[in-house]
Amino acid sequence: MISEPLRKIWRISMGDPYFETTTVQHLKSVVPDSDQFRFRCTGCGNCCRGPGSVYFSDEDMQNIQSFLGLNRTRFAALKQRLIQARENGYHVHRTGGACYFLDQDNRCAIYPVRPLQCSSFPFWPSTFASRAELEEVADDCPGTLSKAGEAHSLLQVARRVNRTRREFIAKQTNQNKLFMI
Ligand code: SF4
Ligand code: SF4
Repeated sequence: MISEPLRKIWRISMGDPYFETTTVQHLKSVVPDSDQFRFRCTGCGNCCRGPGSVYFSDEDMQNIQSFLGLNRTRFAALKQRLIQARENGYHVHRTGGACYFLDQDNRCAIYPVRPLQCSSFPFWPSTFASRAELEEVADDCPGTLSKAGEAHSLLQVARRVNRTRREFIAKQTNQNKLFMI
Protein backbone atom coordinates (compact mmCIF):
# COMPACT_ATOMS: atom_id res chain seq x y z
CA MET A 1 0.00 0.00 0.00
CA ILE A 2 1.35 3.45 -0.90
CA SER A 3 1.73 5.83 2.06
CA GLU A 4 -0.25 9.08 2.17
CA PRO A 5 2.87 11.36 1.89
CA LEU A 6 4.06 9.37 -1.14
CA ARG A 7 0.57 9.44 -2.62
CA LYS A 8 0.52 13.22 -2.15
CA ILE A 9 3.89 13.66 -3.90
CA TRP A 10 2.69 11.41 -6.71
CA ARG A 11 -0.57 13.31 -7.09
CA ILE A 12 1.17 16.70 -7.12
CA SER A 13 3.62 15.44 -9.75
CA MET A 14 0.62 14.27 -11.80
CA GLY A 15 -0.92 17.75 -11.50
CA ASP A 16 -3.74 16.48 -9.29
CA PRO A 17 -6.06 19.46 -8.56
CA TYR A 18 -7.16 17.82 -5.30
CA PHE A 19 -4.27 19.55 -3.55
CA GLU A 20 -4.68 22.93 -5.18
CA THR A 21 -6.97 24.16 -2.43
CA THR A 22 -8.85 27.43 -2.77
CA THR A 23 -7.66 29.82 -0.08
CA VAL A 24 -9.20 32.95 1.45
CA GLN A 25 -6.16 34.87 0.24
CA HIS A 26 -6.82 33.79 -3.33
CA LEU A 27 -10.53 34.66 -3.01
CA LYS A 28 -9.66 38.20 -1.89
CA SER A 29 -8.26 38.83 -5.36
CA VAL A 30 -11.23 37.20 -7.08
CA VAL A 31 -14.39 38.39 -5.29
CA PRO A 32 -15.11 42.07 -6.10
CA ASP A 33 -16.55 42.80 -2.65
CA SER A 34 -13.26 41.49 -1.16
CA ASP A 35 -14.71 40.19 2.14
CA GLN A 36 -17.97 38.55 1.15
CA PHE A 37 -19.64 36.79 -1.76
CA ARG A 38 -23.36 37.16 -2.36
CA PHE A 39 -25.49 34.46 -3.95
CA ARG A 40 -29.16 33.53 -4.11
CA CYS A 41 -30.63 31.27 -6.77
CA THR A 42 -33.48 32.93 -8.66
CA GLY A 43 -34.58 29.67 -10.29
CA CYS A 44 -33.99 31.06 -13.79
CA GLY A 45 -32.74 27.67 -15.06
CA ASN A 46 -29.85 29.17 -17.06
CA CYS A 47 -27.37 26.74 -15.56
CA CYS A 48 -29.49 23.80 -16.82
CA ARG A 49 -29.54 25.01 -20.43
CA GLY A 50 -27.11 25.03 -23.29
CA PRO A 51 -24.57 22.48 -24.44
CA GLY A 52 -22.51 20.90 -21.67
CA SER A 53 -22.08 17.81 -19.54
CA VAL A 54 -23.82 16.72 -16.34
CA TYR A 55 -22.00 14.09 -14.28
CA PHE A 56 -24.00 11.52 -12.35
CA SER A 57 -22.32 9.12 -9.89
CA ASP A 58 -23.64 5.57 -9.38
CA GLU A 59 -25.20 6.79 -6.13
CA ASP A 60 -26.92 9.68 -7.96
CA MET A 61 -28.39 7.22 -10.46
CA GLN A 62 -29.71 4.99 -7.67
CA ASN A 63 -31.22 7.99 -5.89
CA ILE A 64 -32.91 9.12 -9.12
CA GLN A 65 -34.36 5.66 -9.68
CA SER A 66 -35.82 5.62 -6.15
CA PHE A 67 -37.04 9.22 -6.33
CA LEU A 68 -38.85 8.63 -9.64
CA GLY A 69 -40.09 5.19 -8.52
CA LEU A 70 -38.83 3.46 -11.67
CA ASN A 71 -38.69 -0.31 -12.06
CA ARG A 72 -35.62 -1.86 -13.71
CA THR A 73 -37.03 -1.72 -17.22
CA ARG A 74 -38.11 1.91 -17.04
CA PHE A 75 -34.86 2.90 -15.35
CA ALA A 76 -32.85 1.19 -18.09
CA ALA A 77 -34.88 3.11 -20.68
CA LEU A 78 -34.21 6.38 -18.84
CA LYS A 79 -30.47 5.65 -18.71
CA GLN A 80 -30.43 4.94 -22.40
CA ARG A 81 -31.98 8.34 -23.17
CA LEU A 82 -30.00 10.24 -20.54
CA ILE A 83 -26.44 8.90 -20.60
CA GLN A 84 -24.18 9.26 -23.62
CA ALA A 85 -20.82 8.36 -22.01
CA ARG A 86 -19.14 6.77 -19.02
CA GLU A 87 -16.02 8.63 -17.84
CA ASN A 88 -13.93 8.32 -14.68
CA GLY A 89 -16.72 6.32 -13.02
CA TYR A 90 -19.37 8.95 -13.78
CA HIS A 91 -22.37 8.58 -16.04
CA VAL A 92 -22.19 11.57 -18.40
CA HIS A 93 -25.21 13.36 -19.84
CA ARG A 94 -24.26 15.53 -22.81
CA THR A 95 -26.91 18.20 -22.86
CA GLY A 96 -27.98 19.76 -26.13
CA GLY A 97 -30.38 22.68 -25.74
CA ALA A 98 -31.16 21.82 -22.10
CA CYS A 99 -30.66 19.13 -19.48
CA TYR A 100 -33.04 16.21 -19.92
CA PHE A 101 -34.45 16.85 -16.41
CA LEU A 102 -35.34 20.52 -16.93
CA ASP A 103 -39.14 20.52 -17.12
CA GLN A 104 -41.52 22.85 -18.94
CA ASP A 105 -41.89 25.04 -15.83
CA ASN A 106 -38.12 25.61 -15.84
CA ARG A 107 -37.69 23.40 -12.79
CA CYS A 108 -35.44 20.44 -12.16
CA ALA A 109 -37.61 17.31 -12.14
CA ILE A 110 -35.18 15.58 -9.75
CA TYR A 111 -34.28 18.61 -7.61
CA PRO A 112 -34.09 16.82 -4.20
CA VAL A 113 -31.68 14.23 -5.65
CA ARG A 114 -29.86 16.36 -8.25
CA PRO A 115 -26.18 15.49 -8.58
CA LEU A 116 -23.37 17.19 -6.67
CA GLN A 117 -22.36 19.11 -9.78
CA CYS A 118 -25.73 20.90 -9.64
CA SER A 119 -26.24 21.20 -5.87
CA SER A 120 -22.76 22.67 -5.41
CA PHE A 121 -23.09 25.35 -8.12
CA PRO A 122 -21.73 28.06 -8.18
CA PHE A 123 -19.28 26.89 -5.50
CA TRP A 124 -17.03 25.20 -8.06
CA PRO A 125 -13.24 25.56 -8.29
CA SER A 126 -13.62 26.86 -11.85
CA THR A 127 -16.01 29.67 -10.77
CA PHE A 128 -13.46 31.09 -8.35
CA ALA A 129 -10.34 30.42 -10.42
CA SER A 130 -10.08 34.12 -11.35
CA ARG A 131 -12.05 37.40 -11.33
CA ALA A 132 -12.74 36.98 -15.06
CA GLU A 133 -14.16 33.45 -14.53
CA LEU A 134 -16.38 34.66 -11.68
CA GLU A 135 -17.70 37.57 -13.76
CA GLU A 136 -18.38 35.21 -16.65
CA VAL A 137 -20.43 32.96 -14.36
CA ALA A 138 -22.28 36.04 -13.01
CA ASP A 139 -23.16 37.08 -16.58
CA ASP A 140 -25.13 33.84 -16.99
CA CYS A 141 -26.28 33.34 -13.40
CA PRO A 142 -28.32 36.25 -11.99
CA GLY A 143 -27.96 34.82 -8.46
CA THR A 144 -24.16 35.12 -8.50
CA LEU A 145 -22.88 38.46 -7.13
CA SER A 146 -26.52 39.51 -6.73
CA LYS A 147 -26.95 42.37 -4.27
CA ALA A 148 -30.07 40.58 -3.00
CA GLY A 149 -28.09 37.41 -2.39
CA GLU A 150 -27.15 35.82 0.90
CA ALA A 151 -23.73 36.95 2.11
CA HIS A 152 -21.07 34.24 2.44
CA SER A 153 -17.75 35.00 4.10
CA LEU A 154 -14.68 34.13 2.05
CA LEU A 155 -13.89 31.38 4.54
CA GLN A 156 -17.32 29.84 3.91
CA VAL A 157 -16.75 30.09 0.15
CA ALA A 158 -13.31 28.47 0.44
CA ARG A 159 -14.74 25.61 2.49
CA ARG A 160 -17.60 24.99 0.06
CA VAL A 161 -15.37 25.13 -3.02
CA ASN A 162 -12.84 22.76 -1.45
CA ARG A 163 -15.62 20.39 -0.41
CA THR A 164 -16.90 20.35 -4.00
CA ARG A 165 -13.38 19.63 -5.20
CA ARG A 166 -12.88 16.78 -2.73
CA GLU A 167 -16.28 15.15 -3.16
CA PHE A 168 -16.37 15.44 -6.94
CA ILE A 169 -12.90 13.96 -7.30
CA ALA A 170 -13.47 11.26 -4.68
CA LYS A 171 -15.83 9.39 -6.99
CA GLN A 172 -13.49 9.45 -9.98
CA THR A 173 -11.95 6.10 -10.78
CA ASN A 174 -9.35 7.32 -13.28
CA GLN A 175 -6.79 8.90 -10.95
CA ASN A 176 -4.37 9.67 -13.79
CA LYS A 177 -6.77 11.89 -15.67
CA LEU A 178 -9.08 13.68 -13.29
CA PHE A 179 -11.68 16.16 -14.43
CA MET A 180 -12.94 19.14 -12.50
CA ILE A 181 -15.99 21.35 -12.43
S1 SF4 B 1 -28.24 30.21 -13.28
FE1 SF4 B 1 -27.96 30.78 -11.12
S2 SF4 B 1 -29.86 31.80 -10.55
FE2 SF4 B 1 -30.28 30.65 -12.43
S3 SF4 B 1 -31.03 28.62 -11.72
FE3 SF4 B 1 -28.81 28.43 -12.00
S4 SF4 B 1 -27.94 28.88 -9.95
FE4 SF4 B 1 -30.06 29.63 -9.97
S1 SF4 C 1 -30.07 17.64 -13.10
FE1 SF4 C 1 -31.53 19.25 -12.59
S2 SF4 C 1 -30.28 20.89 -11.66
FE2 SF4 C 1 -28.89 19.51 -12.78
S3 SF4 C 1 -28.66 20.41 -14.84
FE3 SF4 C 1 -30.33 18.90 -14.93
S4 SF4 C 1 -32.19 20.09 -14.58
FE4 SF4 C 1 -30.47 21.33 -13.88
